[in-house]
Amino acid sequence: MIKINSNYLKLQGSYLFSEIARLVKEYQEKNRDKKIIRLGIGDVTEPLPQSIVGAIKKAADEMGVRESFKGYRSDEGYEFLREKIKNHDFSSRGINIDIDEIFISTGAKEDVANIQEILSADSKIAITDPVYPVYIDSNVMAGRTGDFKNGRFENVCYLDCLESNNYIPDLPKEKVDLIYLCFPNNPTGQVATKEILKKWVNYAKENKSLIIYDAAYEAFITDPSIPKSIFEIEGAKEVAIEFRSLSKTAGFTGVRLSYVIVPKESRAFDENGVAHSLNKLWNRRQSTKFNGVAYIIQRAGEVVFTKEGREEVDKIIKYYLGNAKIIGEGIKKLGIRYSGGVNAPYVWLKTPNNLSSWDFFNKLLSECQVVGTPGVGFGKCGEGYFRLSSFGKREDVEEAIDRIQKLSL
Ligand code: PLP
Repeated sequence: MIKINSNYLKLQGSYLFSEIARLVKEYQEKNRDKKIIRLGIGDVTEPLPQSIVGAIKKAADEMGVRESFKGYRSDEGYEFLREKIKNHDFSSRGINIDIDEIFISTGAKEDVANIQEILSADSKIAITDPVYPVYIDSNVMAGRTGDFKNGRFENVCYLDCLESNNYIPDLPKEKVDLIYLCFPNNPTGQVATKEILKKWVNYAKENKSLIIYDAAYEAFITDPSIPKSIFEIEGAKEVAIEFRSLSKTAGFTGVRLSYVIVPKESRAFDENGVAHSLNKLWNRRQSTKFNGVAYIIQRAGEVVFTKEGREEVDKIIKYYLGNAKIIGEGIKKLGIRYSGGVNAPYVWLKTPNNLSSWDFFNKLLSECQVVGTPGVGFGKCGEGYFRLSSFGKREDVEEAIDRIQKLSL
């Protein structure tokens, strides 16, 4: 008898954003005359820069000519792209990363989920709360957690990110093996200083743990004192793997291109305590289960690391950061406390009058037709909080803030 992976039965409800989409659709069907402004889902809204579109067209043409046609190629990605990433993202910041430590892939979502495969199923995980839901759900699927009880999965070390600790989690009180960190953070918009990351690197060294560092939003960091990579911290290469994506950096959410940095020094241990290179294991995993990203898309990605492409991409990042500023300043005028909005595309706010996250969601949807994301959807500690995203048209963001300001809160 074929059996299911019963860990899937532990998963909770429908995915947060599907639930929001359902509620918004239901509301719109009943209120066809109302214009809804969506600042909920973290999807980009600006079109691809022209230099990237040009590269896609050119590469598509190459594929139609015998001499330049490409079939299967290296699973880790083309050297032309990895070389540019190495220079642009790392060498320029004094970080020494070799191109065979860079693995090109189709998205940070799948990368952060897939990486667990090379790690022991009984690894004890530490996850922030609130959190990008993929970290926890993918570990549930892999059987690393117990059942869901009182709003949390058993056998997980939750790292509370609260207003009182400025959304920077304390080090775990217990010994953990695998730690998920994301800065700039989704959903809180918080960033980590070098001192904070140093503490985590030291913890990982002392406890022989591994840090999964999600830097999907690094392009939004404008403060030069904030690290863009965990590898800016001495010794981090031994204890961390970094995940990057062009989704938010360059509008690739529908194009799909990401990259994982697995340093040769990064290690995990076998049952006898012998260290093994994670770079080798990840290479082995990818060459078995992945046949690389489309040539056309890698050519598109390459442009992001050229002067022309970067200028266009930076303009878009500035535009979103401008939106974030409008959201932050707008809600501040209402006396609402918030984090993020600078160095990050998200604003994480305390709901007024201690409304629950979903009550505030319903209030905004029904009274001013603005859609945000209920904080509790990101974890228990998100209850009473709400996320507004800066991905949207400027005039929509301005109108949304204007509408919220006119509400009686
Ligand atoms: N990591 C974080 C923290 C995210 O918020 C997201 C998307 O919203 C992703 C990863 C997924 O990125 P990608 O589009 O590269 O799969």
